Amino acid sequence: MELNRKAVVFIPDGTEEGAALARTTHLAVSAHQDDIEFMAYAPIAECFGKQDRWFTGVVVTDGAGSPRSGLYADCSDEDMKAIRIVEQEKAAFVGGYSAQLLLAHPSSAVKSKEDGEGVVEELVSVFRAARPRYVYTHNLADKHETHVATALKVIKALRALSAEERPEKVYGCEVWRDLDWMCDEEKVFMDCGPHPNLMRSLSAVFDSQIIGGKRYDLAAEGRRLANATFSASHACDTYTALNYAMDLTPLMDEKTDIAAYITGYIERFRQAVEQTMRKFL
Ligand SMILES: [Zn+2]
Repeated sequence: MELNRKAVVFIPDGTEEGAALARTTHLAVSAHQDDIEFMAYAPIAECFGKQDRWFTGVVVTDGAGSPRSGLYADCSDEDMKAIRIVEQEKAAFVGGYSAQLLLAHPSSAVKSKEDGEGVVEELVSVFRAARPRYVYTHNLADKHETHVATALKVIKALRALSAEERPEKVYGCEVWRDLDWMCDEEKVFMDCGPHPNLMRSLSAVFDSQIIGGKRYDLAAEGRRLANATFSASHACDTYTALNYAMDLTPLMDEKTDIAAYITGYIERFRQAVEQTMRKFL
């Protein structure tokens, strides 16, 4: 695996790097530290404590521009980068990840169409080393530009792989904009019910972000509880905590138009809203 020289590789149980990557079955790629735990708790829980499935996290940016207050008010960008690496490593340890990679790119590099820093190439190298069955990233209707740019880099990297190297499934997950608006039959349900204690512990390690002024921990849990209850109006709750995802698997095929694929979901949502109204107009 070829990473840039600022990248950090953390392997909680000390397994050799190649072996830790190779055992990965579920892999999440996020823009920032903490996104993985908020959007992809379901696969973390699915792999937790198992010997036949392993979760690996990849954080693409360096977390330099994050807001800060309280204990962190006087921290420089360099201080914040260091603090956020430690927080992400804590999460990887608590969550029993196979490996945690921090690629440490500035946001501008991720958002650059030219990709001068070679983010796509690096992700290709990660995918080849890990060969995950399932890949999780941001959904492309997210409102945070770095999230959308990260997901597009992931798709470009997946397109560069041969058909045999590609994962079975690719999912776009919820952070800055949930996916409740999607038509019910198109939602991918990600069960966040197992190990509720673990879920809280994972969110709790991101002190610099939470005490920095945003209760992401409560918000992420609240979204999961709301999704579980509001997912079906006529049935008892099947889930205790639920995240939604958008199936991005077809986007690995370079013939699929990315923008048309995503706006297709929006168009079907628009039609469903109109159809319901017209019944009673
Ligand atoms: Zn983020």
